[in-house]
Amino acid sequence: MMPLKSFVSALLFASLWACQTENKSEENQVETQAVEAIFPQGQKGSDAFFTGNAYNYGLVPMDSTYDMLIGNVYFEPGARSNWHTHPSGQILIITAGEGYHQLEGQPIEKLKKGSVVKCPPNVRHWHGASPNTGMQQMYVIPNTEKGIVDWMEAVSDAQYQDLN
Ligand code: MN
Repeated sequence: MMPLKSFVSALLFASLWACQTENKSEENQVETQAVEAIFPQGQKGSDAFFTGNAYNYGLVPMDSTYDMLIGNVYFEPGARSNWHTHPSGQILIITAGEGYHQLEGQPIEKLKKGSVVKCPPNVRHWHGASPNTGMQQMYVIPNTEKGIVDWMEAVSDAQYQDLN
């Protein structure tokens, strides 16, 4: 029979191990949710325009004073937009997580918290999260009287993984 002292040690060890395992799984969960969300998650984007799960939350609607749109998109790990253009361009400000941005014909650019990106008018591009970490992306679309976005085909897995 196991001496009482050993039994208590084993029990203590088992409970410590259980706590550590629990903490570790919580950390992993935070990693895959892109930490530091500033805004509510918002509405899931259509499968017609996104691969994986992306969520849009409008911050500043266009009106008669402001010909612009400001909002936030949260991309889950692996999620990305389709190829698309903006008639008057777009500015992205990354507030958390890690992701990618690519103008057609150029290498994929890695994004992280603090990255600021300009998507020039009518240039085909896409943006999204990295495979293992989500991304919080604030966007500004100016001069919305010219239009907001023209959606095109999905970004293939081969294009998404072409990091060089
Ligand atoms: Mn865009």
